[in-house]
Order: sequence, then C-alpha cells, then structure tokens
Amino acid sequence: MHNVDLHCHSTASDGLLPAAEVVRRAAENGVDMLALTDHDELSGLTAARSVADELGMRFVNGVEVSIEWLGLQVHILGFAFDADDEALNAGLAAIRSGRVDRARRMAAALEKIGIPGCFDGAMGHAENPNLISRSHFARYLVEIGVCKDMRSVFESYLVPGRPGYVDHRWATLEEAVRWIRGAGGVASVAHPGRYKFSRSELRRFFDEFKGVGGQAIEVVSGSHSADNVVVFSRFAREYGFMASCGSDFHGPGESYVDLGKLAPFPQGLAPVWESF
Ligand code: AMP
Ligand code: MN
Ligand code: MN
Ligand code: MN
Repeated sequence: MHNVDLHCHSTASDGLLPAAEVVRRAAENGVDMLALTDHDELSGLTAARSVADELGMRFVNGVEVSIEWLGLQVHILGFAFDADDEALNAGLAAIRSGRVDRARRMAAALEKIGIPGCFDGAMGHAENPNLISRSHFARYLVEIGVCKDMRSVFESYLVPGRPGYVDHRWATLEEAVRWIRGAGGVASVAHPGRYKFSRSELRRFFDEFKGVGGQAIEVVSGSHSADNVVVFSRFAREYGFMASCGSDFHGPGESYVDLGKLAPFPQGLAPVWESF
C-alpha cells in the first residue's frame, strides 16, 4: 500500500461531503486504501464501499467512537469490523441517543449568554440529526457571524470551561474497545496528540487501553505536528502498539489536511493495515 488514509468523515456524522463523494475524492487524491470513520455511526459504510469497489480502491469499515476518560472526551477508532455486529450497533446507538439531548442543553446554555436559536440553527447544518455535533453548532455560529471560523468558535464557546460546553456521558474506554474487538475489528487511539493529558495521564491512558485490548494508536494524523509524530512513534514502539494514519478530513476548506495528503508513515512501525 502506498497511500493509506484511515480516518475521515462524511455527512453521516460531521463531515461536509456525502460518503460516496468522500470516496471519490480520496481516489482522485491517489488513496489506495481508505477507511471512513464517522463519529459513532456506520450508516455511510455501504455507499462508501460500493463506490470504492467501482473505483478499485481498497475500502475498510471504520468508526470513531466517542468516549469519556477522566472527564475528557477521547476518540477511539475502530477498523475492519463486521458492520452488522449487534453489540457494536447497539453500543453506537446508545451513544447517539444522548446527542440530541446534549444539543438542547448546549443551545440553552448559548441562549443564556444571548445567542438564541442555536438548536434549530445547528440542526440546519446536520444531514443526520442523530449525529448532531459541536461541529454543526460551530458552523452555525460562523454562519451568523458570531465568530470568523470554526477554530475560534471552539476556543470561545465549545470547549470545557466555555459557555456553550456541557458535560456529557459517552461510552467508556472498555466498552468502545470491547464493541470494536467483539465485532472482529482493531481499536486505535485517534489523534493522541490532541488531548489535554499530562504525561502521566497519557501513560495511564495507554496502559488502560492496552489492558482492555487496544492494539494501535494513530501516529500520523492531520491534526498532529511533526513533533507529535515523533513522540507517538516512540510510544507505539514502547507499548507494542501497531500504528495507524489518517487525515481526519471533514470537508474542503475545513480540515488541516486533505484526503491522502498525509505526512510520511515513519519507518520501523507496524502498520495497522497489515492486520486487516
Ligand atoms: P462532538 O462529537 O459533538 O463533541 O464534536 C466533536 C467534533 O468537533 C470533532 O470531531 C471535530 O470535528 C470538531 N472539533 C473539536 N475540537 C475542534 C476545534 N478546536 N476546532 C475545530 N473543530 C473541532
Ligand atoms: Mn468531527
Ligand atoms: Mn476525533
Ligand atoms: Mn475524526
């Protein structure tokens, strides 16, 4: 494999392009193995796979599961699982069912600080209402001119300590890994460089992840710096984790990196796709 991208989003969650278009764009960009990894949602996989088959591109089932660990939201990627697995589907459905309620609480919090109408506004940006996400709120707040871009909306309104952020119970680390592995898949920690963990928390997190059966970490990510890649290559070797790589593409103009335009995969790591 020359160009592997194992992390991206479609309108089935908070991406801007339908799954079929994500796959076409990936193929145009030279990707030869793609995983679509929508947040807590598998509904884009069928369309994505059929386009990938048409284009002769290798396609891998994927998902990005939202979990809570030490009060922080963390993302666990699942790859190459059986998308019909009942426990996985039931687990993801349970996570999704809390999203609409969270969105109402977020809208109420934003209304309190003088920004009304955010529930309907955010829903207007969500193709899949069950997957209503902070991204949809951010797009709405940019649309109405509250902030100039998504990044500043998150900084000012949508992260812990900011007025539009509300706590939410996601899955646990153990559940996410159990659902993914139970469906025959491989679990990888998404963009480990993005979390606000101390060094000791990061080690504790990797220990627990490994303890519950986690097998890989995302070393190369659209949201990782060159330093992050070096640091997490080292962690992968130390813990015996395989390494995954992905752009985390959400849409044209909205992502750090386009599909298939990743930094090189470091030497000396075990590529997760060799296990698929
Ligand atoms: P949610 O799952 O609803 O909590 O939304 C999380 C999503 O928001 C992530 O998957 C990203 O797509 C997006 N996101 C999180 N933090 C930021 C940020 N600082 N800037 C832009 N997008 C972000
Ligand atoms: Mn997202
Ligand atoms: Mn993520
Ligand atoms: Mn993602």
